Amino acid sequence: MNYIWINPVVKAMYAYKLEKLIKELEDKGYKVVETPSQVELVKNKFENLCMEEEKIVLDTRCPAAIEYIKEKVKNRGFFIPRIEPILIHSARALYDIYIKDNKDNTLFITTPCSSLKDMGNLIFKEEKKSRIVFKTWNDICKELDIPKEEKCSRSPIPLGFFRNLNLKVLEASGQQEVLETVTNAVENNEDIDLIEILLCEGGCNTGDGI
Ligand code: SF4
Repeated sequence: MNYIWINPVVKAMYAYKLEKLIKELEDKGYKVVETPSQVELVKNKFENLCMEEEKIVLDTRCPAAIEYIKEKVKNRGFFIPRIEPILIHSARALYDIYIKDNKDNTLFITTPCSSLKDMGNLIFKEEKKSRIVFKTWNDICKELDIPKEEKCSRSPIPLGFFRNLNLKVLEASGQQEVLETVTNAVENNEDIDLIEILLCEGGCNTGDGI
């Protein structure tokens, strides 16, 4: 059996056409699956870490933003935690449900960008976990001949992910804003706990995989 998880950005793109999309995927041999929300789990990991860590913690949900900051900012007055993106948490939960104990199944995880696709494929390959494949939504549309909808104007996961936590947080999206925010915060030794960073301006709705 082929299973497929549609990420929240793609769901928002298809909006009222989502049911039609699910039917089309099923007709082509892919059963659409859901995962329990990983949002609170990821938030808790960051909150607990920030309570112990003295340096400014960087949000690691966007791997492209982390790679960009590593390349551009030489002052390492920040801490990059080993907390995986929500999408990877979701993939792990689905792997345990559908793949781990059934050798006949394959799971496809759709991503809004190439950086999450590459990260997912690398992590599971290194852990020698097969039959889980990360593909951008563009890959899926091309391979299964599925009509692609327009990108949505607002991200379903916009800046503000950490706002309900008791932390001092800065928020930045887009290359320039991410770079300036992190640089200023570390150079001025600002009294903050965490910097939320998304490399695509406005969030994942403008990723390169959709
Ligand atoms: S879609 Fe853009 S903002 Fe979202 S994780 Fe990928 S690179 Fe980062």
